[in-house]
Amino acid sequence: QEKIVIKELAEKLEVRSTEIIKELMLMGIMANINQEVNFDTATEIAEKYGILVEKEDEVDILEEFFKEAPSESKDLKTRPPIVVVMGHVDHGKTSLLDAIRKTNVTSREAGGITQHIGASVVESNGNKITFLDTPGHEAFTAMRMRGAMATDIAILVVAADDGVMPQTIEAINHAKAAGVEIIVAINKIDKPGANPDRVKQELVEYGLVVEDWGGETIAVPVSAIDGTGIDTLLEMVLIVSEMTELKANPKRNARGIIIEAQLDKGRGPVATVLVQNGTLRVGDPIVAGSAYGKVRAMMDDKGRRVKEAGPSKPVEILGLNEVPFAGEPFYMAKSDREARQVAEKVIEKGRVDLIQNTATKVTLDDLFSQ
Ligand code: GDP
Ligand code: MG
Repeated sequence: QEKIVIKELAEKLEVRSTEIIKELMLMGIMANINQEVNFDTATEIAEKYGILVEKEDEVDILEEFFKEAPSESKDLKTRPPIVVVMGHVDHGKTSLLDAIRKTNVTSREAGGITQHIGASVVESNGNKITFLDTPGHEAFTAMRMRGAMATDIAILVVAADDGVMPQTIEAINHAKAAGVEIIVAINKIDKPGANPDRVKQELVEYGLVVEDWGGETIAVPVSAIDGTGIDTLLEMVLIVSEMTELKANPKRNARGIIIEAQLDKGRGPVATVLVQNGTLRVGDPIVAGSAYGKVRAMMDDKGRRVKEAGPSKPVEILGLNEVPFAGEPFYMAKSDREARQVAEKVIEKGRVDLIQNTATKVTLDDLFSQ
């Protein structure tokens, strides 16, 4: 039976131990902070705080199993940056992402339908940029919790007519905690009430000093509506990406992150994955938590069938035996058998832990484009 000490539970739930003890009393359990409660009890309490309890250790088992020697530097190749758009509600996250995609679609494949696979790849001067979109926030939270960040740059959208707001601050904190580079997009500069200087002024308080004020933070005035500054913003993303020297080894076995996943009536479990390292190919056996299978088909964000996906490329895959969790790492196995066996180990082992914090998720929902 899996157990957790009350004190530890309180820390994970970010509530006082006395609160937990009170809850336990209501459930007819008398305990002190150093005592343990079992998995079911912990789950029940966590639910009262809107928190989901998940079995942990999968990451560790798999991480351990698929551990590989670091790549030789000659095999490391520059990979596209992975970007998320964050910011206060109504500051224009969705509009900005749409504008970014639209610039791209019209120039490259007019009339092309963008698939919504949870991520998209855009191009700027021949360089690719991967944007995590819609439920990207779920994955973002889970990735952070698992220390498997798949984001390099956060575009912080701040409306020039509204300035820094509570969720702007939250977004800054999240990005900083995750060690992600921040680029500020001062949006809605087309509006009569726009005051970019005020935004810059307010950002100073949160440690973001823009370049023209002698700091290091890149801020780009944009309008998601008329398209002003979008190209510059993408250029800046590429400059930051170059400075951070993002590299991966396309030659090794693929590993990455599940961005989103669901059960499709006709196609079975469908997952959007982001390859972080290596190259994923049709036919590869993979495992993600307790889900495993052979990649039966892959589609890119433009809905095209592809045979392989290298670093930073998001693809939708078919072939898993069950729906994996968003934010879960995936690994390529040597054989179908190995994939199944290691997934079975994950199911067998599995220790209690609190991974997904719905309370955090609720606020994150608004930070990311939807
Ligand atoms: P989100 O909640 O951050 O995703 O914000 P949305 O993209 O939904 O935008 C909120 C509102 O602001 C919508 O009515 C948009 O049309 C409007 N909006 C977004 N960007 C701009 C902009 O650059 N200029 C103007 N004038 N309106 C904008
Ligand atoms: Mg939105």
